Amino acid sequence: MKITRITMWQLTLPLKRPYLLSGGRLGVQQLDSTFVRVDTDEGLSGWGESCPWGHNYLPAHGAGVRSAIELLAPGLIGKDPRALDCINLAMDETLPGHLHAKSPLDIACWDILGQSAALPLWKLLGGCEAARIPVNSSIPTGTASEMIAQIDDARIRGCRFHSAKIGGLDVDCETKRVGEILANMAAGEQVTFDVNRAWTPAAAVAVMNSVDARSWFEQPCETMDQCAHVASRVRQPILLDECLHTFQDHLDAWRLSACEGVKIKPGRLGGLTKARRIRDLCMEVGWQMHIEDVGGSALADTAAIHLAAATSPHFRLASWLGNDHLNVDPVPGQGARNLEGMAKPPEVAGLGVVPDANRLGSPYASFERSR
Ligand code: MG
Repeated sequence: MKITRITMWQLTLPLKRPYLLSGGRLGVQQLDSTFVRVDTDEGLSGWGESCPWGHNYLPAHGAGVRSAIELLAPGLIGKDPRALDCINLAMDETLPGHLHAKSPLDIACWDILGQSAALPLWKLLGGCEAARIPVNSSIPTGTASEMIAQIDDARIRGCRFHSAKIGGLDVDCETKRVGEILANMAAGEQVTFDVNRAWTPAAAVAVMNSVDARSWFEQPCETMDQCAHVASRVRQPILLDECLHTFQDHLDAWRLSACEGVKIKPGRLGGLTKARRIRDLCMEVGWQMHIEDVGGSALADTAAIHLAAATSPHFRLASWLGNDHLNVDPVPGQGARNLEGMAKPPEVAGLGVVPDANRLGSPYASFERSR
């Protein structure tokens, strides 16, 4: 089987409401997503999506994704999409880094592998069932009462796990906000306080040692060394997110004792192939994981939910769904959705999400073997 054509589309995905994070420092109102379809000479096609969360959250942006795909795609024409390690090696030799651009190409090839094997991705990735994954809410930065109102909304939609985006620099205000959010938690609920890099180490140590919370605190500071400094001075478990990109980053975090858990996001890590390698390392060292994507439609969410479903619940935490936050739905009714606080991957072969190309508009670019 050979790849004959790679086509990409650009989609603007408006959010239901403006989203602030990192204590209000970073904000986004719409996302710039890239959909990719990989076609083969045997009639199978696979889909992938890459959607950075705006352009100021991670070192990635929509136009950059497409620009990198323009360099990557021609080198994949003629290759067997089922040879995932070879596909990834070819991409790494063409263009180091640029993991957000590699992710949709890798995921589309996984989709084809699944279809050719007549197996859903969760099974190919090692899972024994299409496990139902608890959906993590995602509560943007606001006043304590605004955040509590949104947690109440998420509770109505079935969520029992919440990710509250904090990160103010006033230690007293932040301590009060954490306390008020904690006091609103219902029995059986859990909240992660996601700082999105906003705190200085001093602020992190001061707030975390002032609150009663034993909850997870996520990416308190900008760098891994800063987070490791904090981890040695607080009693709460720490998750890392934005400072992790490569396998080596995860090895460094382990050596530094910087965390007890991580976010596994295919978009940030370069696709399912690399995310799975890192997932395996995390299980070996005993870390717990939220497995979800950076953002995007139900297409991107579904790829991550397949990997979440293939991961033992012993290590797996809740997963957020980017599609829950969008005002549009490019893949209506398909893929992983929030059903009363739970999401499950499709049971059909492959990824299980097939966009209608007619709904996507004109392609942004297409690559074929030159004759
Ligand atoms: Mg985070």
